[in-house]
Amino acid sequence: MVDMFCYQCSQTAKGTGCTVRGVCGKEPTVARLQDNLIFALKGMSAYNYNANVLGVKDSDVDEFLTKGLYSTLTNVNFDAEDLINLGLEAGEANVKVMKMLKQAHIDHYGEPEPAEVKVGAQEGPAIIVTGHDLKALDELLKQTEGTDVKVYTHSEMLPAHGYPELRKYENLAGQLGGAWFDQKDIFSKYNAAIVATSNCVLLPKDEYADRIFTMDVAKLPDTPVVENYDFKPVIDKAIELGGLDAEELTTITTGFGASTVLSLADKIKELVEAGKIKRFFLVGGCDGPFPKSNYYREFVQNLPEDVVVLTLACGKFKFNDLDLGDIEGVPRLIDLGQCNDAIVAVDIALALCDLFGVGLNELPLTIVLSWMEQKAAAILWSLLYLGKTDMLIGPVLPAWANEDILNYLVNTYNLTPIGDPIEDIKKIMGE
Ligand code: SF4
Ligand code: SF4
Repeated sequence: MVDMFCYQCSQTAKGTGCTVRGVCGKEPTVARLQDNLIFALKGMSAYNYNANVLGVKDSDVDEFLTKGLYSTLTNVNFDAEDLINLGLEAGEANVKVMKMLKQAHIDHYGEPEPAEVKVGAQEGPAIIVTGHDLKALDELLKQTEGTDVKVYTHSEMLPAHGYPELRKYENLAGQLGGAWFDQKDIFSKYNAAIVATSNCVLLPKDEYADRIFTMDVAKLPDTPVVENYDFKPVIDKAIELGGLDAEELTTITTGFGASTVLSLADKIKELVEAGKIKRFFLVGGCDGPFPKSNYYREFVQNLPEDVVVLTLACGKFKFNDLDLGDIEGVPRLIDLGQCNDAIVAVDIALALCDLFGVGLNELPLTIVLSWMEQKAAAILWSLLYLGKTDMLIGPVLPAWANEDILNYLVNTYNLTPIGDPIEDIKKIMGE
């Protein structure tokens, strides 16, 4: 493994890259903290972009994006401590941007309510929408109204079913597939038109390359682009393809908003005080195709029955088919939505802190994160900015973190890599 990699300026070592120490004097830890900051800024940009598309902006967020990027320019900042502080500032700005995006989603589509979503194909022409962009789905649903084209969500679009102003459309039929990385199988299997609205889209297989469309920031080579939310070519393609055959359906529940969860606050308090709820877990983040990611399913499967699991982002697909039941009316598996809905989990946690009169780290709440791409880096720094300690992270440690950075995260926040699920549960539950 190289100590660092930087080839951003003309001084770069041997004209190929500074890998041990910068020709400019940049230390590996500084280079890695700059990389980390860029990753967090990329994640924030995704949320900020989606919020901007819905017509909202925050000048503090925009200013921080610029300042953060500028701090990584050659010969500007060689101070590791300051770059950690900038990571925490990125976390703070990301809290702001997630709040802004969540509010924009609620303003446009209503506050999510729990929804049972049909999983599987129904008969008729079909469009599958993947990504995170609710505005794209809304516009598509408007344009399919009155046709027999069924619109299915894929991956992180699942929580769209919870929003009243989206689920009111009859054409919103259900969900096909799980997390982003099953798309090559799912899109090959179902003879549908496909719209990729954002990450995480993959280079298509030949089987469906002629029926996938992209839009906005998502782009694929030689693939038609939906311009100005005009989905006519997509709808025409879905009709031309003929349609799907019906298959046996299952259901999953999504769409818990903060209001739904907090309407149970008194009951939750009573159950916690009676020892019937021992702990809350937030198990979520990005899913990945690594065998080690099965940890998250095993972890949730092996939790004792007196705990409640909050989840969000596509990591939920590792276990959201499990029926965990409820504790006297409080569901044991609560899907809060997309990755940006990490802010809903934060709001719920802070409301529970008020309810019990304790600080965030006194609350019986353990966060078990899975990360894949850079939105998760932004969310991690948001949680660190909020001072959350004792989190578990996996399936692998971030490669941008060298020993110095890991030592800092462990010593300051007790951030721990995931291990064996059963041993981790025992440790957390104090057994
Ligand atoms: S900024 Fe420094 S570390 Fe990066 S390429 Fe230039 S000399 Fe090397
Ligand atoms: S949660 Fe992360 S990995 Fe999953 S689809 Fe969203 S951005 Fe991609």
